[in-house]
Amino acid sequence: MNTPCLKRRFRFPQRQERLRLADLERALAQDRVAIVLQPQVDLVTGGIVGVETLARLVDPSGALVSPAEFVPLAERTFFIRPLGRRLFALSCAAANRLAEAGHEDWRVAINLSAVQIADPAEVSALLAILAESGVDPRRIEVELTESAAIRSFAKVHGQLQRFRALGATVAIDDFGTGFCSLTYLLELEVDRLKIDRLFIAALGRGSRSGLAETVIELGRKLSLEVIAEGVETEAEANWLRGHLCPSAQGYYFSRPLALEQLIGGGLPHSLMPHFTGAPPVGPFPRAAAAPMIH
Ligand code: C2E
Ligand code: CA
Ligand code: CA
Repeated sequence: MNTPCLKRRFRFPQRQERLRLADLERALAQDRVAIVLQPQVDLVTGGIVGVETLARLVDPSGALVSPAEFVPLAERTFFIRPLGRRLFALSCAAANRLAEAGHEDWRVAINLSAVQIADPAEVSALLAILAESGVDPRRIEVELTESAAIRSFAKVHGQLQRFRALGATVAIDDFGTGFCSLTYLLELEVDRLKIDRLFIAALGRGSRSGLAETVIELGRKLSLEVIAEGVETEAEANWLRGHLCPSAQGYYFSRPLALEQLIGGGLPHSLMPHFTGAPPVGPFPRAAAAPMIH
C-alpha cells in the first residue's frame, strides 16, 4: 500500500508532527499542563464576576508556553481530547478552590474546541469530570468560538444542550469574526457574546470602530449578555461603560493569574476604582492609560 512516492511526499511532515505531538504527550504524561485565570469584571461595580481559564504548558525549564503554540496542533491531531479533559478537570478544581476562598459566585468560563463539542463521547467525559468534581454546573460557562459554533449546527446544538440542561451557560467567543447568522445564534440559545478584542483595539480607529457598539446593541435587543475582551486601556474601559456594556476582561483590569495569585494576592475589591457617578459618553478618547495590574 505504501508506495515510495507516497512515502516521499508525506514522510517529513509526519515525522515533524510526531515530534511536536510527542512533546505534548510528554507534557500531559508528566503533569506539565496548567491553567491561569483571567478575571471578568462588572463594568458598573468594578467587582470580579467570573474568570476565564486559559491553558498553559510548563516547559522543562519551568517557563509557561502559550496555547497559541500547542492548541492548534492539539486540535489537528485530536490530542485536544485528552488534553482538554485534563484542562477541564483543572478548571473544575479551580472552581472548587475559588468557592473555598469565598468566591462561589464567580462564574468559571472554560474554552472548548470544535473537536470536543462535536463529539458526544467527549462531552460525556467532560460531564463526568464535572459531576465528579462536585462543582455546581451553574457556575460553569462553556466558551465556544463563533467559527466552532457554526461548524455543524445539529451536533453542536445537541451537545451544548447537555451542558445547558445542567444549568451551565454558553458564551460565543471571538464574536463578530465569523459568520454566525442571527437565526442560528438564537437557535443555539447562547447566553453571552464575547466581543472580540480586535473590535476593542479598533475603538476610535475608523471603519471597524462601530462594531463593538453594534454587538452591544445586538446583545441588548436579543437579551443576551455581552462581555468585551482584550480591554487594555482606561479609555477603552470608559468607552464600554459609557455604552452600557455590562462586563469586560483584559490586561487593563488584570493579566491572567495563577490560582494562588488570584486567591491570595489581595486584589482590590474593585478593579475599576476610577468610576464614580455617571458613566462618560461621547467620542472615543485617543489617550491611553497604563494597565493597572500586571
Ligand atoms: P481566547 O479564548 O480568545 O482567549 C483570550 C486570549 O487573549 C488569551 O490568550 C488572553 O491571555 C489574551 N488576552 C486577555 N486580555 C488581553 C488583553 O487585554 N490584550 C491582549 N492583547 N490579549 C489579551 P491566551 O491565553 O494566549 O489564549 C489564546 C487562545 O488559546 C484562546 O483565545 C483560546 O482560543 C485558546 N485557548 C486557551 N486556553 C484554552 C483551553 O483550555 N482550551 C482550548 N480549546 N483553547 C484554549
Ligand atoms: Ca475564550
Ligand atoms: Ca476570544
